[in-house]
Amino acid sequence: MPPKRKSTAKAAPAAKKSRPSTDAESVASAEPETVETPAPAAAQQPAATTTTKAAPKKKAVPSRWTIPSCSANIAAQYKAFLTDGKQDPFAFALMCDAPFSNSDEDDEEDEDEEDTAINKEKDDGDKPKCDGGKKCYCTQLYDDHPEHPYVMTRAAKSMFMDLFSHCEVRDPDNFSMYTFNDHSAYGALEVLQNLILDFEEADTWQEKWAVCEALGCFLKNDSYGTLASRIDDGEGADATWQLMGRMFLSMLAQFERDGLLAADGPVKNLGFIMAVWMSIPSDMRGYGLLEESKPEPLGPVKAKGAKKWWPHSFDRQILAYARKYDIALKGLHNLDDLVQEIEAEGEGELPDPAHNTAKSDVFHYQRELTRYKQRYGSGPHFMSTYGRKKQTKPKSAMGGDNLDLTAWTPAERKAAAYDKKDPLGKKELDMIKQGAVMSRG
Ligand SMILES: [Zn+2]
Repeated sequence: MPPKRKSTAKAAPAAKKSRPSTDAESVASAEPETVETPAPAAAQQPAATTTTKAAPKKKAVPSRWTIPSCSANIAAQYKAFLTDGKQDPFAFALMCDAPFSNSDEDDEEDEDEEDTAINKEKDDGDKPKCDGGKKCYCTQLYDDHPEHPYVMTRAAKSMFMDLFSHCEVRDPDNFSMYTFNDHSAYGALEVLQNLILDFEEADTWQEKWAVCEALGCFLKNDSYGTLASRIDDGEGADATWQLMGRMFLSMLAQFERDGLLAADGPVKNLGFIMAVWMSIPSDMRGYGLLEESKPEPLGPVKAKGAKKWWPHSFDRQILAYARKYDIALKGLHNLDDLVQEIEAEGEGELPDPAHNTAKSDVFHYQRELTRYKQRYGSGPHFMSTYGRKKQTKPKSAMGGDNLDLTAWTPAERKAAAYDKKDPLGKKELDMIKQGAVMSRG
């Protein structure tokens, strides 16, 4: 079950969100929750069995955030989680279930009942029922049950839950406000763009991979994860999904260069996360996205007789990588159908490893990122200015928190509120100043 949007109109800030309050419990059951008190997470989580080098010092990146705002607070909490040394943020942790709808029951076509029952039994095996993280898999690590498909790094779990908070503060319904029709959809787009920037700014492959894990699972959420596809700019939405697909392929190309693309390598959830990303083009075709693109040469543009690929069908390259490196795709109920669907189009070509250098950018991700920023960075005028007194973003700057309503001034919120009062009271504003994050209440 995906997190639901709040049914009551007014958002209430929660007590400061603890880290990682986002432990598997809330990811697995994915029920909206108000985090009232810091969870004794450290006690629940087993000790890490692997350690990761501390990230090298960050290069200076201009801040995307308004201070104070919930977006800034969420980003600060994530950064603290990565660096506070309490737990290995990149340990691979289990979840009882996939953090998105993933069963035949969710499909429109009803399968034969008996068949569903058999599948269920097979899926569940000896796994204990999810008890919200007491004795179930949700507090265990990959090494405890290496056969279990639902695995995410702690960092990715944390980031994944953050994405819902980011979307909630960009939804005027939660504040009893009306701004413009597409505010929440463009807000969700702003959230996706921030992840693309997080990937760009990451210093280590672990940080980049956490973005891929969290984003892939988020895109499979059928409410907030697909919300950005509903903006009134279909071309811009399509460009965003294509760019994200390229981003994931650039990660796989990096893994290939670094020898990390292996069934028994250090990336323990390759089979699950690759399956997740491989399913996205098929999912999004239901929303009218990722239906076509122009073919491009793979690898260096000038390479003679370059192979071709189509950026909208990045699922074909993912399947080809999985086969080339013997990575068992897993964790999706419709995996077999999906593989058949992709095979019907023909297996994708992969770049020649000899051409796969960091500089050659085989899937032309950097080139397209630059183009995307120029073209869609500041979005339509209301993405950067609507309701705001002044243009708050430089041109071609993507992401940020311009549509986060907690980043708006009280006067800006008042003007758009149904009752012409600031939906955030002094208490809420003080809490945001102190670093609080709005609740998923
Ligand atoms: Zn569980």
